[in-house]
Amino acid sequence: MDRTSGLDRAHRHAVGWLASLAKRQVPPRLTTEEMLARLDPHLQDGPTDPAAVVDELAAACEPGLTAMPGGRFFGFVIGGSHPAALAVDWLVSAWDQNAGLRMLTPAHSAVEDVAEAWVVDLLGLPTGSAVGFVTGGTMANFTCLAAGRDEVLRRAGWDVAERGLVGSPGVRVLVGAERHDTIDLSLRYLGLGAPEPVAADDQGRVEAAALAAALDAGDGRPTIVCLQAGNVHSGAFDPFDEAVTAAHDAGAWVHVDGAFGLFAGASPRHRHLMAGAERADSWATDAHKTLNVPYDCGLAIVRDRAALRAAMGMHGDYLIHDAAGEPFDKVPEISRRGRAFPVWAVLRALGRDGVADLVDGFCDHAAAFAEGIAAIDGAEVLNDVVFTQVCASFGDDDHRTRAVVEAMLAEGTAWTTGSRWHDRAVLRVSVSNWSTTVDDVAHSLAALRRAAGR
Ligand SMILES: *Cc1c(COP(=O)(O)O)cnc(C)c1O
Repeated sequence: MDRTSGLDRAHRHAVGWLASLAKRQVPPRLTTEEMLARLDPHLQDGPTDPAAVVDELAAACEPGLTAMPGGRFFGFVIGGSHPAALAVDWLVSAWDQNAGLRMLTPAHSAVEDVAEAWVVDLLGLPTGSAVGFVTGGTMANFTCLAAGRDEVLRRAGWDVAERGLVGSPGVRVLVGAERHDTIDLSLRYLGLGAPEPVAADDQGRVEAAALAAALDAGDGRPTIVCLQAGNVHSGAFDPFDEAVTAAHDAGAWVHVDGAFGLFAGASPRHRHLMAGAERADSWATDAHKTLNVPYDCGLAIVRDRAALRAAMGMHGDYLIHDAAGEPFDKVPEISRRGRAFPVWAVLRALGRDGVADLVDGFCDHAAAFAEGIAAIDGAEVLNDVVFTQVCASFGDDDHRTRAVVEAMLAEGTAWTTGSRWHDRAVLRVSVSNWSTTVDDVAHSLAALRRAAGR
């Protein structure tokens, strides 16, 4: 069988798709049900030529695709794919390296070591911190919190790997009232149950005094504190300096969920938002959001390498180990794709200044959105726009805000997300794509004015 005829077709379809982004409407034209009706439900008995498979799938899928990699997708927090990262991601599939073991895939292992050091340095985190290349922010939170759980229990004389959690002293987990839901999800996966929320202020930042009081009222159990760099609604950053000091004084492990916000640390203009966060014990971020690599790539960063390896490492003696530790010691998976290659690629393509410009560009576009929205009759920007997120209401009546969200989707110029924040319907804008231009923002604001004028 020809190994590459399918690749040639895939290349052609990919180039066509990317070229269509500038003009096409952002939402998909068909629903999932309508897409199902286009697909042959019957799995045939015989083979199909790879090139024909690619053509069939591309033709069927085109109307069901969302223009997420384009410059006018501002929904949820969704990054784009930088051209260098996208191209290298194709190589990842062609090279098809199982990235778990050093002796098996020296190229990936070495690139991962280099990318690890670059990321830690770029974000202003402690030199020597370990980075696990996981699937996304959720697994990054999970991985970091696993290291934290095991370490705080180890300090209390309890070995989770040996004894499990039943009968342990338990772990108290304090979180800001506006932490991301995936913190709760990670804690559930880890058998830690629901966390204790601590009051947050009007921007969603944890209140340092309330956190200190909650820590003081502790019952002596091992404790983890989860802080946040980048609230999905406001973009706000927790007051790290005070919060980390209070948590460490109480002997707690401090974890920072910075799925998109951690990259503020890479920008001289925005790194003040992260002041004090570098003293935490672990940090979760996504490479597939702000850093603009393709799915799926998250980074679990842990100061104490041994704590991460103790939590995630597998000690089966049938596998070959060496002194540096194996890449699979830092992540939940054994087999995985070469996720460090696209991370290396985007960092090599942008350089230190380019990453700072990327982050600053997102923030500038967000500020332009805020200014443009505030000028719309009856509209109100609800957050201090300190980073990449804008949260707006189009009047005291939730119906009008919801109608604007719906009109935006129906019109298709841009994708903005409807949500609820502080008990109000809101329209949320997240700028996270390298290809967004000043024109994209202007056209999207014009669409918002039309939607609000209806
Ligand atoms: C997106 C996000 C997550 C989850 O990340 P995934 O990559 O979707 O798993 C966690 N925390 C915050 C603050 C996020 O924005």
